[in-house]
Amino acid sequence: MKVNKAEIIISAVAEAQYPGDNLPEIVLLGRSNVGKSSFVNTLIERRNLARTSSQPGKTQTMNFYQINDLFRFVDMPGYGYAKASKTEREKWGKMIEKYLRQRENAAMIFQLIDSRHEPSEDDVLMYEWLTYYNLNPVIIGTKADKISRTNQKKSTNQIAKALSLKSPREVILFSAETKLGKDEVWQRIESVLK
Ligand code: GDP
Repeated sequence: MKVNKAEIIISAVAEAQYPGDNLPEIVLLGRSNVGKSSFVNTLIERRNLARTSSQPGKTQTMNFYQINDLFRFVDMPGYGYAKASKTEREKWGKMIEKYLRQRENAAMIFQLIDSRHEPSEDDVLMYEWLTYYNLNPVIIGTKADKISRTNQKKSTNQIAKALSLKSPREVILFSAETKLGKDEVWQRIESVLK
């Protein structure tokens, strides 16, 4: 897809702030610092629409990025931030749960997992929660440029095993540096926009 227009509509903290139209929304979930902002920026070829930060966990808002006035990315606050307080975590959980279970605009979910490491406990819990509610996410292995070809294969196997996926081929390896996976991700997005 050629992106002609990309704008942040709102950084929401409550449901009342969600856009009121019926544009489809593509949801991004993942641990803080997993590469969600870089994922959006790479897809839409903008250096800095989504804020990439070296301060993980800082943004506790849901950011709605509207693309070509056709659909939106909804960047959820990262989970598993060690320094977040219990109250913050609970607030996070409620906000996300409510969105995911009630929002009719939600058309697709990408769950991003760092391809360099074994999925964390939070990654697994998030995935299990999603599939329990039949919200089957597409799994993205991020920062794939940081591992060798051999380790890429190991990585998809490892992720597939931890999440009990049918096949490691279900994992899309992605890199904001080399653009690996970009076309495949766009194909997935376009398939739900038709
Ligand atoms: P977010 O917190 O999930 O939005 O993560 P960011 O997109 O801000 O990325 C966190 C850090 O990882 C930043 O320093 C990015 O430059 C880096 N990063 C993200 N994606 C990639 C990637 O594909 N390759 C490499 N080498 N670094 C990445």
